[in-house]
Amino acid sequence: MLDQLKQLETEALAAFSVTENMNDLEAARVAFMGRKGRLADIMSQLPSLSNEEKRAAGQMANEVKAAIEGAFAAAQSRIESAFAELNAERAWIDTTLPGEEPGLGHVHLTTQAIADIMEIFSKLGFNRQRHPDLDWDYYAFESLNMPKEHPARDEWETFFIADPDKDVVQMGELGKVVLTPHTSNAQVREMQKGQLPIRMINIGKTYRRQATARHLPMFHQFEGLMIDENVSITDLRGVFDFFVKRFFGEGTKTRLRPFHFRFTEPSFELDISCTVCEGEGFVNGTKCKLCKGGWLELGGAGMVHPNVLKAGGIDPKKYTGFAFGWGVERTAMMRGGLKMDDIRLMYRNDLRFLKQF
Ligand SMILES: [Zn+2]
Repeated sequence: MLDQLKQLETEALAAFSVTENMNDLEAARVAFMGRKGRLADIMSQLPSLSNEEKRAAGQMANEVKAAIEGAFAAAQSRIESAFAELNAERAWIDTTLPGEEPGLGHVHLTTQAIADIMEIFSKLGFNRQRHPDLDWDYYAFESLNMPKEHPARDEWETFFIADPDKDVVQMGELGKVVLTPHTSNAQVREMQKGQLPIRMINIGKTYRRQATARHLPMFHQFEGLMIDENVSITDLRGVFDFFVKRFFGEGTKTRLRPFHFRFTEPSFELDISCTVCEGEGFVNGTKCKLCKGGWLELGGAGMVHPNVLKAGGIDPKKYTGFAFGWGVERTAMMRGGLKMDDIRLMYRNDLRFLKQF
């Protein structure tokens, strides 16, 4: 038994000296010193020995136990300091190296234009309102004086939303579900809030089934709506002038051209003098590349049709109003005097392009 104890000590010390982590060390400790470990196993022979042998074995067992515990503590501190060293190495930072400068971006051309547009209209008391860009046919068409099957709907190449369970267009009590092809769906929605007068700007995403060099399937529009007693075309003209002079420059001239929209009567196209040739149509004797004859078309406007007011629960005999709407991307490009050959560049995330603005 004395030999067995000596053998155990040798093996335990050897095992502890090669362990490299706490888990292995603990497993070795249990194997040698645990309640069912090798030392306990050897000691179970004790009752069969004579008293003298018992005394000698007990003394030896205590010595072996102390040696093994000492070796365990030594192995433990060896492993701990190895880990501490490794962590210190990982945490070390060379403060003499030059820093990495984070890339500094700026807001997208469209976002800049939206902020500028809103700032100008807010000076006239217009508030930005938000309305859905996933809406019912009713708000996108029917309430805007475009009954079902009316050919005026055709020019808005509309996306309809399919019912996920059936392979048909999703329907509700207010008709089919559409991705709004314009921001005018906000008109009747704003009127239905029942608060007059209205001075609203709705800037949102619009969607049309077209993707060409001149058209994007998604672009932004902003929609203005003013409704009060005695609002006239003169007010429309005044608001239009105010915006144009601040957004495009004090020298910019404006023009209304008669047009036809279903939801306004009378309707106009709004033109501004060209930002490149300043309305001359010529630059140094050659025809201006941006405009036709000195004018640029900005967008549509008009006096809100009585049927639209009625759809919004407003008495057209008492109240009148005007509405206007045009594309944000287009407006932003016109300010820069840009004629982009491919408007899709706006959303290709090419930094060489975007950094210019
Ligand atoms: Zn021009």
